[in-house]
Amino acid sequence: MTERRAYIVGGGLAGLAAATALLEKGVPVTLAEAAPQAGGRCRSFFDRQLGCDIDNGNHLVLSGNTDVASYLQRIGARDTVEILAPVFPFRDVSSGESWSIKLSDGRIPWRLLCPHHGIPGVRFRDYWHSRRILKATSSETVADVLSETGQLYSHFWKPFAVAVLNTEPETAAAALLKPVIEETLLKGGSACRPVMAKRGLGFSFVEPALDYLQGNGADVRLGVRCRQINSSHGRVSSIDLEGDVIDIGENDIVISALPPPVVTNLLADIPAPQDFRSIVNVHFRLDGEVQGSSIIGIIGGVAEWLFLRGDIASVTISAAEHLVADAADEIAERVWRDVAPILTCDPEVLPPVRVIKEKRATFAQTPENLRLRPPYATKLRNLWLAGDWTDTGLPATIEGAIRSGHQSAALALNK
Ligand SMILES: Cc1cc2nc3c(=O)[nH]c(=O)nc-3n(C[C@H](O)[C@H](O)[C@H](O)COP(=O)(O)OP(=O)(O)OC[C@H]3O[C@@H](n4cnc5c(N)ncnc54)[C@H](O)[C@@H]3O)c2cc1C
Repeated sequence: MTERRAYIVGGGLAGLAAATALLEKGVPVTLAEAAPQAGGRCRSFFDRQLGCDIDNGNHLVLSGNTDVASYLQRIGARDTVEILAPVFPFRDVSSGESWSIKLSDGRIPWRLLCPHHGIPGVRFRDYWHSRRILKATSSETVADVLSETGQLYSHFWKPFAVAVLNTEPETAAAALLKPVIEETLLKGGSACRPVMAKRGLGFSFVEPALDYLQGNGADVRLGVRCRQINSSHGRVSSIDLEGDVIDIGENDIVISALPPPVVTNLLADIPAPQDFRSIVNVHFRLDGEVQGSSIIGIIGGVAEWLFLRGDIASVTISAAEHLVADAADEIAERVWRDVAPILTCDPEVLPPVRVIKEKRATFAQTPENLRLRPPYATKLRNLWLAGDWTDTGLPATIEGAIRSGHQSAALALNK
């Protein structure tokens, strides 16, 4: 029997997770990524305007993300991340009010109920009413289920849901929050510690994976587009990698870790969500370094989350359709007015800044689109799908992308 090889097309985190998982099990791997660099929507690059490395966007990952943890372990990158305390300071920039959500380590975050560790103005019954989220039906939105929870909605559920689902709560699928709550919040503080890349996303999630692949003999092709996936007799028979047509053997594995529009172009009969939501990130280079890393939730302004690392203060605005068409300098000024007081800086003096608009940051995570997420297995017996938009059961996140890569690799191995 000829040796079995795995061909992975798409070098975002889903593709990297599938490739490293298969290689770990001894399957030789070819990985083709169209862009000159791997990482897809999760990457770092040197920004000339700021004169330093930045990420395309802040990414919040939590210690309860088990597939992220096993991926980092496999590629030898656990030391490249910092695990912060499960404390989330918030600031309401319209009222000046501030509070912190501090989670205790037990399974039920009792501390939230204590006035000094919770959200001001929230009553016990708001928490009690929130339990409906765990029973949300597949057609309900976040607003349908949670908007009756008073101050808890405006001060926690809404910013949490927008950050996790990158979709406005009035149309976001409530059912998608359930697995996130079960895997993090309901496990208590130990599962809710923010996991921050010490230097940047690329240095934690991408470069070590490429080193792992190349160090273990994988054939990694960057800047190589998959042009065609051909099939016959119920299986993939060949793939075209930028003109190099490769025959796929009977025992070979093909994993597509491509974005939805590319998959529907290359493959017939695969359902896929085709509408997306944007994320705007604004990176400011400060005069001096801040101590340690931290994340601050912001409500009542344009900015939503402020990430601090070294001398970079970086702001994320999710589901940013209301903002994305505006001029970059206008966005930067509005965001700086929100965050300058938090950083004790002058709101009139704009520091060096870079605005990044990711127009297709994730698919719109609505009840209608959840029905269009395809399973990992396809009608072709040697082709599996991966990607944050496939039917992972999770939102379109790093955890979802990596889990899809792990699961499609496991299914392919067990075939
Ligand atoms: C600004 C921003 C902020 C985010 N914030 C968070 C967050 O806080 N927390 C979180 O968990 N997640 C966050 N996400 C989501 C997270 O980045 C994604 O879920 C994850 O990176 C998706 O990985 P993927 O491999 O599924 O897809 P992608 O990263 O899209 O990978 C697909 C890859 O396929 C390649 N490709 C396309 N066509 C071809 C072809 N024909 N041949 C070969 N290769 C091809 C692409 O170049 C790309 O590299 C954020 C995303 C963005 C954009």
